[in-house]
Amino acid sequence: MKKIGLTGGIGSGKSTVARMLSDHNIPIIDADRIARSIVEPGTPALAELVDAFGSDILHPDGSLRRAELARRAFATPEATSLLNTITHPRIQAETSRQFAQAEAAGQPRVVYDMPLLIDNGLHTGMDLVIVVHADEDIRIRRLMRHRGLDEADIRRRIASQIDEATRLRAADIILDNNGTEAHLRNQVAKLIGKI
Ligand code: ADP
Repeated sequence: MKKIGLTGGIGSGKSTVARMLSDHNIPIIDADRIARSIVEPGTPALAELVDAFGSDILHPDGSLRRAELARRAFATPEATSLLNTITHPRIQAETSRQFAQAEAAGQPRVVYDMPLLIDNGLHTGMDLVIVVHADEDIRIRRLMRHRGLDEADIRRRIASQIDEATRLRAADIILDNNGTEAHLRNQVAKLIGKI
């Protein structure tokens, strides 16, 4: 089974490409969704996070207050390391389970949709790396318009990720998303026969 990594900086259109690939019946392993699923109410990871960081990290309905967890967990290197000890093994286990499930189902290929694929060095385990690219000013404009984020926040998030030149160097295939969604959809359609 061919493992295809899909990545791109925030606002590049990576999730849009994942949806388009899914429309072509290509199975997607969604890293963001996995990270959320392992801390859902009732999970052992959430219970351990409460023990480590306090019950104030929960909403009244028992779901995770992400911003509050982030505030506490990124306060010191020790707290960050504790967060990672609790979450990383579970994320890895669930990710491996989904790869194994796709393989067992006889899928010829699977796409791993992962924002930090290259930042975390996971691209080296892929057979093919697709990077979605859009210029920074276009990404900022789209995120402000569609996600209601403010410019300073977006710039902070971009600065916390790997730089675009490094990301592009790691790419086997670059999808250009400076144009319309139709332009992007065309490139994805052409890709289907090649991957
Ligand atoms: P990412 O997953 O890389 O952060 P998204 O796919 O969520 O990015 O795209 C960011 C925002 O820009 C979304 O609201 C999306 O609908 C919009 N978008 C993506 N591609 C285009 C495009 N070519 N033209 C206009 N808007 C786009």
